[in-house]
Amino acid sequence: MIIHPFLMKIKIYREGWGMINYYLCALFNRMHPMKLSWKPYTLQLKHIFAIANSSRTETPVVLTQIEHEGMIGYGEASLPPYLPETQQSVSHFLEKINLSTFNDPLQLEEIWEYLDGLEEGNMAAKAAVDIALHDLSGKLIGQPWHRLWGLNPEKAPDTTYTIGIDTVEVVKEKTREVASDFNILKVKLGRSEAEDKGMIEAIRSVSSLPISVDANQGWQTVGQALDMIGWLHEKGAVMIEQPMPKHDLENIAQVTAQSQLPIFADESVQGLADVANLKGIFSGINIKLMKCGGMRQAWKMANLAKCLGMKVMIGCMTETSCAISAASQLSPLADFADLDGALLISNDCFSGTKIKRGKICISNQAGIGLEA
Ligand code: MG
Repeated sequence: MIIHPFLMKIKIYREGWGMINYYLCALFNRMHPMKLSWKPYTLQLKHIFAIANSSRTETPVVLTQIEHEGMIGYGEASLPPYLPETQQSVSHFLEKINLSTFNDPLQLEEIWEYLDGLEEGNMAAKAAVDIALHDLSGKLIGQPWHRLWGLNPEKAPDTTYTIGIDTVEVVKEKTREVASDFNILKVKLGRSEAEDKGMIEAIRSVSSLPISVDANQGWQTVGQALDMIGWLHEKGAVMIEQPMPKHDLENIAQVTAQSQLPIFADESVQGLADVANLKGIFSGINIKLMKCGGMRQAWKMANLAKCLGMKVMIGCMTETSCAISAASQLSPLADFADLDGALLISNDCFSGTKIKRGKICISNQAGIGLEA
């Protein structure tokens, strides 16, 4: 094709200006590198949080910020005591990070590879950086991540609300308190059969809402698991999380094959590398940003699980609205969501994704949708 000399001049001018603009941006970014900062923070729980073998009233977290071009991206590492990371280990990991070699916060893939290569593990610390980078880069583009990912926020599911282990009377009272505000409840089992059944009966005596059951690796044999699942199915349970110990995959596969309810991996799945190995063993996976290293890995896990024909659940720890808003960006992809973490604390220092009558309502603000 012959290009008219005048059009050719415009083309050269535009391409030339594009190149100059690119180099000016790179120079600007080099002169104004991303600045990472962080502080420890302690979440106060509204109620004592009890699971089968422990209880607590606080959760330590580390809040991160990445500053660039006058914008701030926010992130968070949640550090429940049953996991190996602490505020000290997160600080130690964050001190090693040098983001000045990256020109652009949107180079999320390259920055992830750099972070992941610094040291093994430290997944919550990596998530705290990855979430802040997503928030920052979304703000620089001017769009929320659910939109950048092509997801419809109207498709965000209901979140479960966890009824903690307690006496029958307290369980009934707590269930009555929340039953009209939520559409699905979550129960953590894993004590004796009588105690587990007593917990479900207590809820059923005051509410007919569907129940999501987290067995927390508590059942020991295929027969025991299937008996409980059959009974729970009759009682209106809709899914089971981690029925047996995390490495007991052969037995879990047998449970999944015979179960009336979908079986989700939680402790058996940590990151992206685990997903493909769990096809045929579990019906689905519970993705948590603190386990997998943040939003980019979670996005990849959710898409891989869907490609493999597996179901997706998005879960959380006790977290502020920062990490909950980050996880909620993915939630339109999920079959189940357990994003009640910020509702369980009394000192949330962010406002973002809200839970309205049990439904996850993702903010339309850019990045992860936080209002500072
Ligand atoms: Mg679980």
